[in-house]
Amino acid sequence: MLPNFAYVRAESKREALEQLASEGARLHAGGTDLLGCLHDRVFGVEKLVSIGRLDELRGIRESAGGGLVIGALTTIAEIAEDATVRERYPGLAQAAAEVASPQLRNQGTLGGNLCQRPRCWYYRGDFHCAKKGGDLCYAVEGENRYHAIFGGGPCYIVHPSDTAPMLVALGAAVRVAGPRGEREIPAAELFVLPEQDLHHETVLRPDEMITEVSLPRPAAGLRSSYRKVRERGSWDFALTSVALALRLSGRRVEEARVVLGGVAPIPWRSPAAEAALTGQTLDAATARAAAEAAAGGAEPLEQNGYKVPLVKGVVEESLLGLA
Ligand SMILES: Cc1cc2nc3c(=O)[nH]c(=O)nc-3n(C[C@H](O)[C@H](O)[C@H](O)COP(=O)(O)OP(=O)(O)OC[C@H]3O[C@@H](n4cnc5c(N)ncnc54)[C@H](O)[C@@H]3O)c2cc1C
Ligand code: SF4
Repeated sequence: MLPNFAYVRAESKREALEQLASEGARLHAGGTDLLGCLHDRVFGVEKLVSIGRLDELRGIRESAGGGLVIGALTTIAEIAEDATVRERYPGLAQAAAEVASPQLRNQGTLGGNLCQRPRCWYYRGDFHCAKKGGDLCYAVEGENRYHAIFGGGPCYIVHPSDTAPMLVALGAAVRVAGPRGEREIPAAELFVLPEQDLHHETVLRPDEMITEVSLPRPAAGLRSSYRKVRERGSWDFALTSVALALRLSGRRVEEARVVLGGVAPIPWRSPAAEAALTGQTLDAATARAAAEAAAGGAEPLEQNGYKVPLVKGVVEESLLGLA
């Protein structure tokens, strides 16, 4: 059952920010993640502030610099289907198309996708674990087959968003509005590891909201792709995924961004894989070397060692796909 709370439909960005400033207020976009959390009492709420009427936060437009700006309320389905996104940033269209089910993609928004809460079953269940202010991470000794193999400790969640790794790979920036004005944060700096902040997954303050995400103009030779491995064939979160953004000159890799999903508390950039690609011809040997490098440094828990070969496989396959 949902708890009792006040509900406000903001008519302007300013009103949304004013309402969000009060104690216990939370933002409501598509509600596909939020309402499940409230229903399961994962966290409490005093007031929900709906931004559903703020049309200024919707849509996809060209930026002055030749990139794209995507409003935070743009649905995941709109991103997956947008002709310009598909043509210029195919990896982002693929990532959006991999999110959940058609119904959830029609309702879920980009801002909510980036700010959704983790899926750890202890966190979502009736356990007062470390992330909720308790003493223990139950995943360490418990059921940890879906947890992190990189960047974990003291909490081992994996970042659930499909669009986030791709936005990091593409060098996107997130525009944030708050009572102190607006600021822009590189997507790569939006997310925080549990060792930096155990209770939050982003650097956003409770009274701030994402208003839009901007993508830089695609460099000549940019190729991008997103590949996701899941347990079930239908909708499911990633066991492992990889977002690639490569700048190619013929078959030579001039620049590479390799970002893994489903394996770490944040979208996990792999500098080792990027180094193994840069300056090389994109062929089978390079793809294998980069895949090995991407899995280097993994620290699996007792039940999630299978993610290591999965990382290698998905990185190699994706690179060969782009080659
Ligand atoms: C069954 C199921 C399967 C799913 N599968 C996937 C999947 O495979 N891949 C995937 O990526 N996601 C998945 N999701 C997660 C999620 O529902 C979607 O990603 C969706 O995009 C969330 O958007 P929303 O607008 O519904 O967010 P909401 O539920 O409204 O909000 C989610 C959180 O983000 C905050 N928030 C919302 N908008 C903003 C904003 N503009 N600024 C700051 N904070 C904001 C809210 O306060 C809330 O805490 C799944 C969800 C469900 C229920
Ligand atoms: S992984 Fe994080 S959310 Fe899950 S039980 Fe451990 S502390 Fe809690």
